[in-house]
Amino acid sequence: MLFNSIVYGPIHSRRLGISLGMNLMPTDKKLCTFNCVYCECGWNTPALYPHLPSVEEVRTALEKKLIALQAEGVRPDVITFSGNGEPTLHPDFLAIIRLTCELRDRYCPEAKVSVLSNATQLGRPEVREALMLCENRILKLDSAIDETMRRIDQPLNPQLTVHQITQWLALFHGDFTLQTCFLRGRHQGNEIDNTTEEELRAWYRVVDELKPKQLMIYIIDRATPEQQLEKIPRETMERIAAPLREKGYDVSISA
Ligand code: SF4
Repeated sequence: MLFNSIVYGPIHSRRLGISLGMNLMPTDKKLCTFNCVYCECGWNTPALYPHLPSVEEVRTALEKKLIALQAEGVRPDVITFSGNGEPTLHPDFLAIIRLTCELRDRYCPEAKVSVLSNATQLGRPEVREALMLCENRILKLDSAIDETMRRIDQPLNPQLTVHQITQWLALFHGDFTLQTCFLRGRHQGNEIDNTTEEELRAWYRVVDELKPKQLMIYIIDRATPEQQLEKIPRETMERIAAPLREKGYDVSISA
């Protein structure tokens, strides 16, 4: 499923409420530094010179939509950057977040600005600066074990490690939402399961190190590019959340 415009929706999000979507990636293909086996946008396709919208194109599209929503009396809860890939890859991401906050203040001041990110660009100071201008930074970590992270997320950079990602996440001092998709299955002959005891022990340890202000754990919901994946039952998700809730973490489950 690809979004064929810069602004889409609003849609009712399981996690965020009435959400106006923002897509800074190409409208005809996914562009991401991961190639997650469960990605609702499908597999990455090679793109030598992908067309990304300019800052002015984003401004025009968003302002037009916010004016139309205002006229209809629709008040978005959130303006959410996700779309066809990794939004922080846009070279003008900081400028776009600034203009989004400006337009939000003008047309729907109660809406929050959220970014769903796979966290691979957090080493760039301007990306961290942009994320800190938003109300919600929803940052992905699908496993605290390198081999599993690589099997699930298939990073384009084969050197990427969980340690590197958690070092970047630590720069937010807990002021973010940690997002993890739990799943089981197989891909290219390899077993995938980030719900085993070993996996959860490592993941809980990272959660305790990072102390995110919120956790969003979820299961696959729509069609996935890898067919051999199974949904984790709700009871298992509750069992995964329970020890964290006992410690006082705010854990939401989308299952
Ligand atoms: S990080 Fe998100 S957009 Fe990128 S491959 Fe994974 S699910 Fe898809």
